Amino acid sequence: MKRAFLLILGLFCSMCLPACSAFGAGETLTEREPSQQEFFAMDTYMTFSAYGEGAGQALREAEEEIYRLESEWSVTDKGSEIYRVNHSGGMPVSLSDDTAEIIRFVLDMAEETGGALDPTIYPVVSAWGFTTDENRIPSQEELQTLLGEIGYDKVELDGNLIRLPEGMELDLGAVGKGYAGDLAAELLKENGVTSALLDIGGNIQAVGSRPDGSGWRIALRSPFGEGQIGVLEVSDCAVVTSGNYERYFVGEDGREYGHIIDPETGYPADNGTASVTIIAEEGKTADALSTSMFVKGLSGAEEYWRTHRDFDMILITEDGHIYITEGIESSFTLNSSFANMELHVLETAADE
Ligand code: AMP
Ligand code: MG
Repeated sequence: MKRAFLLILGLFCSMCLPACSAFGAGETLTEREPSQQEFFAMDTYMTFSAYGEGAGQALREAEEEIYRLESEWSVTDKGSEIYRVNHSGGMPVSLSDDTAEIIRFVLDMAEETGGALDPTIYPVVSAWGFTTDENRIPSQEELQTLLGEIGYDKVELDGNLIRLPEGMELDLGAVGKGYAGDLAAELLKENGVTSALLDIGGNIQAVGSRPDGSGWRIALRSPFGEGQIGVLEVSDCAVVTSGNYERYFVGEDGREYGHIIDPETGYPADNGTASVTIIAEEGKTADALSTSMFVKGLSGAEEYWRTHRDFDMILITEDGHIYITEGIESSFTLNSSFANMELHVLETAADE
């Protein structure tokens, strides 16, 4: 089911690109027609588009960079650094700079979000069968036992040296794609690209603006099934969405169980949130926050935003409300076919 979804999303996103590209008069052909690179990596479909001379070669390098990062961070590839860490039997492992940096980042974000993000949650995700697509509902006792053995605070990271207690496993699934987007965008910029859109399985990394200087128009998929909730106009930032609708199964009890786990309970987060989209300068931050704000739910996410305010958010609830932060009020347009949803703007002035 997941693959089918990603395919649909991939098609949807590539279809969205021409719609994102209305050009003004007087532009050159190279600006009008983006170079494009489509590929499957990190378990998702990616479409990278860039404008200008040298864009094609830069995109090919960016694709190579993604494969390199995938081979370092995969949980299942026996040659990956993460696999080595997860099977180190409690012994210290020396990491490459990229891997040490992303682990440091995810541990910091775990701390900052009060453990809503926890990269050691993998055994619980596995118990629910999300790693093999052989889904099952684990018993409460099984979950309690697993929860007792995990915790981001048990990971020791000193420079590039990591030590994970025996039996614990790290999974960068909640931040890896966002971080990879940052590194790919950086590489494009180093190669002189100033206008590019990286679609990483529906998560977006925008480099600069469109060639005519206007913002990229990003369509936000509805978490309720078909259609687009609205359009967001952005430049030079990341737009990352998390939702249990992305990957879930229906249990024998007829209930839906999603892939984002609340580390406090071991159960899929079930707080009335349908999806959370984060708009932030960096993909890694947007990715870490989309997952953790989904776990926190509306009140926790709103509180977190009020105390941090260095990102914007679109939170959609299952009962049809959309909460957007004030920073994107003028750049978000609700699609007319979702006009029955109630739009609320979260403002900082309210608590000052
Ligand atoms: P995302 O799609 O970025 O929200 O990441 C979701 C993926 O991260 C899941 O498929 C799991 O592999 C993993 N995951 C689930 N819950 C958590 C959590 N609370 N903290 C960190 N990773 C998680
Ligand atoms: Mg995430």
